[in-house]
Amino acid sequence: LSRPLTGRVAVVTGASSGIGEASAEKLASLGARVVVLARRAERLAELVGRIEENGGAASAIAVDVTEAAAVQAAAERVEAEFGGADLLLNNAGVMLPAPIEELATGQWKQQIDLNITGLMNAIGAFTPQLVKAAAERGVADLINTSSIAAQNIFPNFAVYSGTKAYVSHLSRHLRAELGAKKVRVSAVEPGIVGTELQSHVTDQGALEWLEGSKETVEWLTPEDVAEMVGVIATLPARVNLQQVTIMPTGQA
Ligand code: NDP
Repeated sequence: LSRPLTGRVAVVTGASSGIGEASAEKLASLGARVVVLARRAERLAELVGRIEENGGAASAIAVDVTEAAAVQAAAERVEAEFGGADLLLNNAGVMLPAPIEELATGQWKQQIDLNITGLMNAIGAFTPQLVKAAAERGVADLINTSSIAAQNIFPNFAVYSGTKAYVSHLSRHLRAELGAKKVRVSAVEPGIVGTELQSHVTDQGALEWLEGSKETVEWLTPEDVAEMVGVIATLPARVNLQQVTIMPTGQA
């Protein structure tokens, strides 16, 4: 039975929870073979099991995307085992808001290392495969998970927002650069989504702000964002959603 993404190979980073996990399931249900990356091998194994039970094809590679050599080795496995990726959902990220004057330099570094350097490691490792696939088959996708924080001002989100502004602007540049080679580049900018992202926040003020928003806003689910990833990947090859902002209806 042919499905919209049959024959495609999708690599998803940050696939052990939240948006990445839901998107991997969505892409698999649309027919893609998905290769799921994150550090927690057990969570990835459960995800692969679930996808296979539902008739999909999946494999896991446990990797820390902040380590360039490890991401490169993962890309080599994808090339050797599946002929290379034609979709990369570059999604692993961490959000640690805090007032700048607290000088939480360890958390600044964590966000920059993952949201920027980790993202670039995956782009470095998989872009050759995307370009090759697009030349051979007429389409490939680089989908970067950014955030509404790339556009709006949220209290004490400066460092996180800076990393996501990087992701959105980088995506616009890469779209211009790679579009001629039939690689579509998209930035997905979600508003607040209920995932494990909030569980890593340590700043009391930020935690209260997040908790408070729950009282007035019905947060998005990871599946809501995954649905959009599915739309991006299944559009005709000539159509590229450059930037998709997906917000909870009640979030200002
Ligand atoms: P989760 O915390 O649920 O998911 C983050 C994922 O990243 C996990 O799978 C985690 O897996 C993985 N990850 C973390 N560190 C590393 C690492 N060093 N190497 C490889 N993988 C890593 O959060 P979300 O699903 O919400 O986040 C996904 C993306 O969506 C992020 O880029 C986030 O910034 C963005 N986003 C989220 C929003 C929200 O409100 N939730 C809103 C807007 C954007 P593991 O720990 O197993 O490595």
